[in-house]
Amino acid sequence: MNTHPTPVLISRYAAGDAIDDATVWAIEAHLESCAACRTVLTTAVDPAARQLLDRVADGIAAGIAAGPAPARRRRLRRAGVTARILPWLATAVALMLVAVLFESTFHSMPSLVLLIAPVAPLLPVAAAWSRRTDPAWELIASMPRTGLSLLLRRTFAVLMAVVPVLAAAGGVTGHSPVRWLLPCLAFTAGALALGGLVGVDRAALGLSVVWSVGVIAPSLAGQRLPVILEAGSWPGWAAATAGLVAVLLIRAGDHSRPGIGYGQPGIGRN
Ligand SMILES: [Zn+2]
Repeated sequence: MNTHPTPVLISRYAAGDAIDDATVWAIEAHLESCAACRTVLTTAVDPAARQLLDRVADGIAAGIAAGPAPARRRRLRRAGVTARILPWLATAVALMLVAVLFESTFHSMPSLVLLIAPVAPLLPVAAAWSRRTDPAWELIASMPRTGLSLLLRRTFAVLMAVVPVLAAAGGVTGHSPVRWLLPCLAFTAGALALGGLVGVDRAALGLSVVWSVGVIAPSLAGQRLPVILEAGSWPGWAAATAGLVAVLLIRAGDHSRPGIGYGQPGIGRN
């Protein structure tokens, strides 16, 4: 934003009105460099709120002065991410367990393990990258390391947890690894590539829903595995994975834009 935001917009910002994220980022960037607008902002904040802010600032300063030494950064960050992903990892593991039981009970049905494998990592990936589950998303969104490298590290952590579960499920049900691993990798890469446009959590959830409605449900209803999951279709999945990874790397900049990776601007701000 090169021009000054209107006083009305600044007072809406001060009042905490629902303003879309892109505008909020622009206002905040502008305020950093414009003393005139900071003055407008000071008068726009209502006096009671200003007193509250002063009290909070004093309280925080006193707490920091009196509190224990800060925990080690690395351990804290890992614990936070792990705690958020764990319930979704547990869900993915439970789903695979159900799939294995289903498959070994109903022999006439198509393989549920193969049907679920492509979307198994998507829920934990969405959880690892959703600002709705991340209390520190604003902090992370402002870090210089935000973007593709952080996204890839979190996704890799999810895959390191999900792939062994898939391997166990595939081993028990006797499916070749290429039949579950390649679709799983292709969908993960797809969620990340699409995530550059709409946010990773939305992309992952969207792909899960599309696959469930478009492939899993009809396959179970028709009692046959779709052609794309037959043993001979692995070159297609390999090509899709390679193509999507290439798109992801070429469009790496998408993941550095404010708001992206944490959902579209304007949605779910709180
Ligand atoms: Zn200004």
